[in-house]
Amino acid sequence: MAFSLTQRPSNQYRGRFAPSPSGLLHFGSLLTALASYLDAKANDGLWLVRIEDIDPPREQAGAADEILRTLEDYGLHWDETVRYQSQQSALYEQVLTELEQHALTYACACTRAQIKASGGTYNGHCQHLALPYQNHATRLRNQFQTNHYQDLIQGAVQCDTNLAREDFIIKRKDGLYAYQLAVVSDDIDQGITHIVRGCDLLEPTARQLTLYQTLNAQPPQYAHVPLITTHDGFKLSKQNKAPAIDRKSPQASIIKALEFLGQQPPNTLSEATPEEILNWAIEHWCLANVPKQSSIALPP
Ligand code: GLU
Ligand code: ZN
Repeated sequence: MAFSLTQRPSNQYRGRFAPSPSGLLHFGSLLTALASYLDAKANDGLWLVRIEDIDPPREQAGAADEILRTLEDYGLHWDETVRYQSQQSALYEQVLTELEQHALTYACACTRAQIKASGGTYNGHCQHLALPYQNHATRLRNQFQTNHYQDLIQGAVQCDTNLAREDFIIKRKDGLYAYQLAVVSDDIDQGITHIVRGCDLLEPTARQLTLYQTLNAQPPQYAHVPLITTHDGFKLSKQNKAPAIDRKSPQASIIKALEFLGQQPPNTLSEATPEEILNWAIEHWCLANVPKQSSIALPP
């Protein structure tokens, strides 16, 4: 099937960090930024930054700029220009239109409560109803149902089969583009070859692989870094109010993040500038030393 999304030849490593501006960078997001940066730079690659601002109700005013300034203070300088998903509607609309032309989408009127009542996963209820797209969610007809893949850190990943089978939403009822559609469209359009990100996205990767297959595109290599938990066992995230990392003292946070990533920065680096620490880390980067799971919890 032909789609007009074009993929550039992947003769160079192109990585990216794609934060959502729903809050400031916390230690968990620093870890993802750092791991994706180091893996790109250690492979003579480019490292892009994309602001995933497609969900205005969840955004925090000023967060996108603050994230970019923080990356700069940490010496994490990106290549090319920053892409904002809020400016990519034409791309997403084109992908949606083409999927629709190939009869790979349909509108769905099911509510969250109805899906919950029928067992929690969407069962294809609306697939033959030919409902109008307006004021309804748009779902992908999931022909591939990818439920496993190889991850550079996690090894063989097996995803929940029910979830992988679902005709998932690619445009929301409120008219906003769904994360899966936006992230895959941009990663293809930007020629991303390697995606290094947090383990919270292990399961959604299955859906993204289904989209790559549907769009006839070559999927990237994935590497999912472990999540940090708080002392009481919760994932460190914006939702549970993880503290923002300190813009003024990057050194200590970078060193802590390197240790967490299984790298062994020498003590002598504690007096170094962020750039010097990063240069050491690029030179000594070893993806194979990144632990599959975190054994460290942050103190209360
Ligand atoms: N924007 C997503 C987040 O901040 C990450 C998307 C990705 O790396 O694929 O959780
Ligand atoms: Zn439905």
